[in-house]
Amino acid sequence: MNRTKMEFAKNPDAKVRVSCTQCKATYPFEVFLREVRMAAPYETVVEGILVCPDCGHRIHSYYMPENTRFLQSLLEKSIKKWSDSRSPADYQEYNKRQRSFQTSFDAAQRKFNAIFGTSKKEKVREPSQ
Ligand SMILES: [Zn+2]
Repeated sequence: MNRTKMEFAKNPDAKVRVSCTQCKATYPFEVFLREVRMAAPYETVVEGILVCPDCGHRIHSYYMPENTRFLQSLLEKSIKKWSDSRSPADYQEYNKRQRSFQTSFDAAQRKFNAIFGTSKKEKVREPSQ
Protein backbone atom coordinates (compact mmCIF):
# COMPACT_ATOMS: atom_id res chain seq x y z
CA MET A 1 0.00 0.00 0.00
CA ASN A 2 1.47 3.37 -0.93
CA ARG A 3 1.46 6.43 1.30
CA THR A 4 -1.57 8.08 -0.30
CA LYS A 5 -3.78 5.04 0.18
CA MET A 6 -2.50 4.59 3.73
CA GLU A 7 -3.41 8.17 4.62
CA PHE A 8 -6.78 7.82 2.95
CA ALA A 9 -7.57 4.66 4.92
CA LYS A 10 -6.57 6.35 8.18
CA ASN A 11 -8.49 9.51 7.47
CA PRO A 12 -11.18 9.23 4.79
CA ASP A 13 -11.95 12.94 5.13
CA ALA A 14 -8.42 14.06 4.24
CA LYS A 15 -8.23 16.01 1.00
CA VAL A 16 -5.33 14.08 -0.49
CA ARG A 17 -4.48 15.25 -4.00
CA VAL A 18 -3.03 12.85 -6.53
CA SER A 19 -1.72 13.17 -10.09
CA CYS A 20 -2.52 11.02 -13.11
CA THR A 21 0.54 9.01 -14.11
CA GLN A 22 -0.43 9.48 -17.77
CA CYS A 23 -1.40 13.14 -18.26
CA LYS A 24 -0.37 14.59 -14.85
CA ALA A 25 -3.83 16.05 -14.15
CA THR A 26 -4.14 16.65 -10.39
CA TYR A 27 -7.35 16.26 -8.39
CA PRO A 28 -8.40 15.18 -4.90
CA PHE A 29 -8.13 11.39 -4.47
CA GLU A 30 -11.92 10.96 -4.30
CA VAL A 31 -12.36 12.52 -7.77
CA PHE A 32 -10.27 9.65 -9.21
CA LEU A 33 -11.85 6.87 -7.14
CA ARG A 34 -14.45 4.47 -8.57
CA GLU A 35 -15.60 1.36 -6.76
CA VAL A 36 -16.77 -1.61 -8.80
CA ARG A 37 -18.11 -4.98 -7.71
CA MET A 38 -16.14 -8.00 -8.91
CA ALA A 39 -17.80 -10.75 -10.98
CA ALA A 40 -19.02 -14.02 -9.44
CA PRO A 41 -17.79 -15.88 -7.45
CA TYR A 42 -16.14 -12.79 -5.96
CA GLU A 43 -19.20 -10.53 -5.98
CA THR A 44 -18.77 -9.61 -2.30
CA VAL A 45 -15.43 -7.97 -3.21
CA VAL A 46 -15.28 -4.36 -4.37
CA GLU A 47 -12.32 -3.08 -6.41
CA GLY A 48 -11.20 0.51 -6.00
CA ILE A 49 -10.02 1.90 -9.33
CA LEU A 50 -8.51 5.30 -10.00
CA VAL A 51 -9.93 6.81 -13.19
CA CYS A 52 -8.46 10.06 -14.49
CA PRO A 53 -11.29 12.54 -15.24
CA ASP A 54 -9.18 14.21 -17.96
CA CYS A 55 -7.74 11.34 -20.02
CA GLY A 56 -9.66 8.29 -18.70
CA HIS A 57 -6.49 6.42 -17.65
CA ARG A 58 -7.41 3.66 -15.18
CA ILE A 59 -5.26 1.96 -12.57
CA HIS A 60 -6.02 -0.55 -9.86
CA SER A 61 -6.00 0.84 -6.33
CA TYR A 62 -7.27 -1.79 -3.84
CA TYR A 63 -9.61 -4.69 -3.16
CA MET A 64 -12.15 -4.46 -0.38
CA PRO A 65 -13.89 -7.69 0.63
CA GLU A 66 -16.99 -7.57 2.83
CA ASN A 67 -15.21 -8.48 6.08
CA THR A 68 -12.53 -5.82 5.54
CA ARG A 69 -15.20 -3.21 4.79
CA PHE A 70 -16.96 -4.19 8.03
CA LEU A 71 -13.70 -3.68 9.97
CA GLN A 72 -13.29 -0.33 8.21
CA SER A 73 -16.76 0.76 9.36
CA LEU A 74 -15.86 -0.20 12.96
CA LEU A 75 -12.61 1.75 12.61
CA GLU A 76 -14.43 4.84 11.34
CA LYS A 77 -16.83 4.67 14.29
CA SER A 78 -13.98 4.43 16.79
CA ILE A 79 -12.09 7.31 15.10
CA LYS A 80 -15.17 9.46 15.55
CA LYS A 81 -15.73 8.28 19.11
CA TRP A 82 -12.12 9.02 20.09
CA SER A 83 -12.04 12.40 18.33
CA ASP A 84 -15.11 13.40 20.38
CA SER A 85 -14.04 11.97 23.75
CA ARG A 86 -10.20 12.01 23.57
CA SER A 87 -10.28 9.35 26.28
CA PRO A 88 -7.36 6.85 26.57
CA ALA A 89 -9.80 3.90 26.45
CA ASP A 90 -11.28 5.13 23.16
CA TYR A 91 -7.78 5.72 21.80
CA GLN A 92 -6.83 2.13 22.67
CA GLU A 93 -9.93 0.85 20.94
CA TYR A 94 -9.16 2.97 17.88
CA ASN A 95 -5.59 1.59 17.79
CA LYS A 96 -6.80 -1.98 18.12
CA ARG A 97 -9.31 -1.53 15.30
CA GLN A 98 -6.69 0.19 13.14
CA ARG A 99 -4.46 -2.89 13.48
CA SER A 100 -7.34 -5.30 12.76
CA PHE A 101 -8.34 -3.33 9.70
CA GLN A 102 -4.74 -3.04 8.43
CA THR A 103 -4.07 -6.77 8.85
CA SER A 104 -7.30 -7.67 7.06
CA PHE A 105 -6.69 -5.09 4.31
CA ASP A 106 -3.11 -6.26 3.65
CA ALA A 107 -4.16 -9.93 3.56
CA ALA A 108 -6.97 -9.08 1.12
CA GLN A 109 -4.54 -7.26 -1.21
CA ARG A 110 -2.16 -10.25 -1.26
CA LYS A 111 -5.02 -12.70 -1.85
CA PHE A 112 -6.85 -10.80 -4.60
CA ASN A 113 -3.74 -9.48 -6.36
CA ALA A 114 -2.78 -13.15 -6.76
CA ILE A 115 -6.28 -14.20 -7.89
CA PHE A 116 -6.78 -11.35 -10.38
CA GLY A 117 -3.13 -10.96 -11.39
CA THR A 118 -3.18 -7.26 -10.59
CA SER A 119 -0.04 -5.36 -11.43
CA LYS A 120 1.43 -3.44 -8.54
CA LYS A 121 4.06 -1.75 -10.70
CA GLU A 122 2.09 1.34 -11.51
CA LYS A 123 1.14 3.62 -8.65
CA VAL A 124 -0.45 7.02 -8.43
CA ARG A 125 2.08 9.55 -7.24
CA GLU A 126 1.53 12.62 -5.18
CA PRO A 127 2.30 15.85 -7.09
CA SER A 128 5.45 16.59 -5.04
CA GLN A 129 7.11 13.24 -5.85
ZN1 LIG B 1 -4.93 11.53 -17.03
